Amino acid sequence: MRLFDLTGKVALVTGGNGGIGLAMAQGMASIGASIAIAGRNASKAGPALASLRELGARCGFLEGDVTKKAACVQLVADTVAKFGRLDILVNNAGTSIRKMPQDYTEDEWREVMDTNLTSAFLCSQAAYAPMKTAGGGKMINIGSMMSLFGAPYATPYASSKGGIVQMTRCLATAWAKDNIQVNAVLPGWIDTDLTKRAREQVPGLEQRVQDRTPAGRWGSPPDMSGIAAFLASPASDFVTGTAIPVDGGYSIGM
Ligand code: NDP
Repeated sequence: MRLFDLTGKVALVTGGNGGIGLAMAQGMASIGASIAIAGRNASKAGPALASLRELGARCGFLEGDVTKKAACVQLVADTVAKFGRLDILVNNAGTSIRKMPQDYTEDEWREVMDTNLTSAFLCSQAAYAPMKTAGGGKMINIGSMMSLFGAPYATPYASSKGGIVQMTRCLATAWAKDNIQVNAVLPGWIDTDLTKRAREQVPGLEQRVQDRTPAGRWGSPPDMSGIAAFLASPASDFVTGTAIPVDGGYSIGM
């Protein structure tokens, strides 16, 4: 057995056309996986696919809004139709709306929960049968420091990311006998479009994160490539139900 070899394996990465999702796709592509990246915005897909091709990967873009159950089912079906199988699912698509709890509309609450948590459940549900058919698989769910901590401006976001950890544990216990490992990754503060918005909205955030992080810096998307390669590969076959921080020590410092 080669510990880190995804030759012949196929991964579907929601929100894989940029940021953390693309970096995870690149991590898996670099050890041989074929990659389907999914998102709503086809215009971002061109450069993302070019970067995956440079790594030698077979790849394609699938357009879909993961807040819709039909789209989640379709993304999985299209991956299997295009690549012949599905071995790895990265539930990465995510969004945030920053407000005090008393100010959210119901629609805003639902938008964040549907994008971050319900989509991950629906995509996992859809991916179960093809993974079982393939003899096993890997599911990687993206949580957050907000899976662990609370913040005044993050009620739906933190609720969805806390839910990701519990969902991960439930799916891991349910599907371990099918040789499907389900794990969560909890990124620290990573420099992407999502956090660019937060830095614009929250004065001093940039410096505060840097000061609190033992590594002394923000993360960058490539910091997320290795954990994806690990959790997608045979090296992690006895690792399931975990929630692994990738945060430069943010969650263990004072
Ligand atoms: P980005 O905004 O760069 O990426 C988010 C991705 O999700 C985009 O590719 C977007 O593609 C996709 N997406 C959003 N909504 C939908 C939808 N309804 N249907 C399909 N795709 C969707 O952010 P990040 O890379 O930072 O975030 C990726 C994940 O990492 C998220 O789950 C986020 O919560 C999490 N995370 C990020 C942290 C950070 O510091 N950056 C820290 C902790 C967690 P498109 O616009 O084409 O739909």
